This record gives sequence, structure tokens and C-alpha cells, in this order.
Amino acid sequence: MGKRNKQFVEKITAMEEDFAQWYTDVVKQANLVDYGPVRGTMIIKPDGFAIWERIRDELDRQIKATGHSNVSFPLFIPESLLQKEKDHVEGFAPEVAWVTHGGENELSERLVVRPTSEALFCEYYSKNIHSYRDLPMLYNQWSNVVRWEKTTRPFLRSLEFLWQEGHTAHATYEEAAEETAKMLNVYTDVLENYLAIPVLRGRKTEKEKFAGADYTLTIESLMHDGKALQSGTSHHFGSGFAQAFDITYLDENGESQFVHQTSWGVTTRLLGALIMVHGDNRGLVLPPKIAPTQAIIIPIAQHKEGVLDKAYSLRDQVKNLVRIEMDASDKSPGWKFNECEMKGIPVRIEMGPKDIEKNQVVLVRRDTGEKEFVALQDLESRLPILMEEIQENLFKRALLHREQKTAIATNMDEFKQILAENPGFIKAMWCGDIHCEEKIKEETQATSRCIPFEQEKIADTCICCGNEAKEMVYWAKAY
Ligand SMILES: [Zn+2]
Repeated sequence: MGKRNKQFVEKITAMEEDFAQWYTDVVKQANLVDYGPVRGTMIIKPDGFAIWERIRDELDRQIKATGHSNVSFPLFIPESLLQKEKDHVEGFAPEVAWVTHGGENELSERLVVRPTSEALFCEYYSKNIHSYRDLPMLYNQWSNVVRWEKTTRPFLRSLEFLWQEGHTAHATYEEAAEETAKMLNVYTDVLENYLAIPVLRGRKTEKEKFAGADYTLTIESLMHDGKALQSGTSHHFGSGFAQAFDITYLDENGESQFVHQTSWGVTTRLLGALIMVHGDNRGLVLPPKIAPTQAIIIPIAQHKEGVLDKAYSLRDQVKNLVRIEMDASDKSPGWKFNECEMKGIPVRIEMGPKDIEKNQVVLVRRDTGEKEFVALQDLESRLPILMEEIQENLFKRALLHREQKTAIATNMDEFKQILAENPGFIKAMWCGDIHCEEKIKEETQATSRCIPFEQEKIADTCICCGNEAKEMVYWAKAY
């Protein structure tokens, strides 16, 4: 590392040294967020928001392609409405923000700033669903929600965050089950094929499921430090909310039936996942499919005659193939290299007088640092392929990392040893009793992440109590 690295790299704590500080440094140095004036709130800056927009746009496309319509529901929920479903209110009460006054006047009923919008959608459905012909009702909204968290971190846990929440109503339990699985598949596709983040897929335990749900499906990913991140959830409500909110329809025989509902969501947490799965000690590393800028041209010795002209014509040559930018500012090339590395731009294109003489450019990959010389006439075919190679490499690298950090435990000593020596996902058998789950958390701080769809029989007995095991569970310490 030469002199040019100093100014930037010194601002980032090495992840091996202090992962939490590394994360905070990257978030700040890559210009993604700033802190809001209220503790735990965040300002998502242009570079951060551009990434969120890329995620949002792809997800929105898939949500619409699966038959859903976008809507916008209110920010406030009357207290009485939130209280209609008992488990739901119990689950969210500790972290809701209350509105008690309108101007100078105390309100006759307190309002909740939505922590999630089930109550609002249920109220609407109870008034607007009458017949089987009204079903299914397939709604989604892009919005902000507020949860009064005690400890906060940008993207991972904040008082207010952005998300999408899907809310659907169906005639039968089976149709709602199909919907719940379908949306988990959409999330899996976006995470694995766009964000290059491999996920574990499964069901949450009763303890970890959404408050008021029949069951919750989840995708779980592993961060670089061996901690898990719940990355998207899809809930089947059965007819629990329908009974609490009296959402009924007349079936084909004219008989009154309760609807069956789902809800599903992903949040700006995904930006945290991107940072912690792919990032390194030089900053962000973005997968090409999600990177707002896929390649950046950096002219070398741009004061020399013809260099800038050539760089601009290069930009025009590839602008329809990749999302390209050029940095023709008067900062030094070294400074520009560091900056585009910090931002995670997948490919840097260098072009100087010598390259122009040889009719070539230099491509530098952000993920591996590898350099290659490419003739100008080959650039149009090479660039898109290089993007695919980087996308694929990031996924493979993350998958390998997860595999290296996934272990099997058959007793509690092994379980604790793994967490101490090589933390990550731990596969262990479980009897299904919540007491064992709670005991494991108490002793190790690891929580059940999911009961995977792909089951393996590791042992006959529960790792905690020794009774007959029901299922294999993935455990981990989590964000
Ligand atoms: Zn047990």
C-alpha cells in the first residue's frame, strides 16, 4: 500500500480488529447515512438511497409481476384498532410511539405511529370484502414505520426505517399458504440473484414468529463476522386477524366465511446486509446488478492533450451497456481510485496517454483487485461479461464463507465451543419445547434462526434436554 491509500484507509477500522466500528466507519465514509436529530433516526444520503432504489425497483417489479397492487395507507393507527388482536398488540406495545396531542388539544383517543400496518389493512378489509368475488385482495405498500428501539444502528436497527409491507386476503387457508411461500421465493430471488447474498430458508419457531401469525417463513443470511441477519419474512395469519377484525365474505353457497391473510416485508436492513456480506477493509463492495454505478472511468494524466476527449468518447461508447460515470474532477487519480473503492463501484476503467497510444483501457475489479488490459474494440463485449463474473464471484464467495461458518453440534459443549472459536450458523436438533429454546439463548446468546425446509437428521435427541428431537434448527447469534 502506497501513500495514496493512507488518507482513506486510515479512516476505516480493520474489520478483524473491531467489526462494529468497521461497519460504522464504512457507513459514514461511503457517504450512505447521517444521523437524524432524534436519537436512532437516520438520514439516508444520495449514495445510500440510490442503492435502496435499485433494490426497491427490482422488488417492486417482482411484486407487481406476481399480481399485487401498490397502495398507500395512513401513518396513524387509533389505539382501539391496534388492540383488537391480542398477540399483535402485546408483541408491538413495548416499542410503539404514541401521539397524544393534536396542536394544543389532547386527543380523546391516543394514536400509534404505525410500527406495521396489519390493523389498518384489516379494518379496511372488514369494510371492503363482501363476496368471494372480492378475493384475493393483493396489496403492497412502500412506506416508513416507527419502532422505538432501545439500541440502534444505521440500517440494522433504527427508530424509523423504510420497507415494503404486503397484505393479502384469501378465500382459503391453502391459498394464503401458497401466497406466503410465493413471496418468500420472491425475496430469495432478489437476495440471491441481485444482492448476491445466499440465504437459508425455513420457518420460524413459535417463539420467534410474528406477533399474531399462524406461522412465519424467513430467509436468513450470514454476515462477515459470523452473525446472522433476518433478511425477509413472510407470515401466514390463518383466520386469526379475520376473527379479531370480523373480516368475512359470502362464499359461492352464500355462507359467511372468514378470510385467510398474509403479510410480508423487507426493509432498509438489506443495505446493512450488503455492507456486512460483501464489504472489506477498503469499503463497500457492491454486486453489479444492484450498484447504482457499475463502472467509473478515471482518466490518467487528464491534463495532456486528447486524454479527456478520448475518455468522453469512451463513456459514450459503453453508456448503453453499463451504468457508467466518469470522474474528470481535478482530484488526483490515487484519490479517485480510493473513492470509487470506498463506494464499492464494481469496475474502474483507467485510461491514460499510453493506453490511448495502444488503443486499450485498464479494467480493475473491485471484488478481487485484478487488473486486465482490454483493447478498445473489445470493451463492448467484455464489460457485460465482466459484470456477470463479478456478480457470480460475490455470490460464490459469500456462499463459501457461510459454508465455512456452518457447523454441527450434538451437545451443548460443542455448541458453545463453536460459538467461541468459529461463530456462524450451528445446526442442532431440537425437541420443539420453548423452554429448551430459551435455555439455549440464556446460556449462549444464540437464537433459533429457522427450522429449514431442507431437514437433516443429525441426532435422535434434543441438544438441550436429551428428549426425542423433532426438527433440526439453525442457530446463531443475530443482529
Ligand atoms: Zn429439548
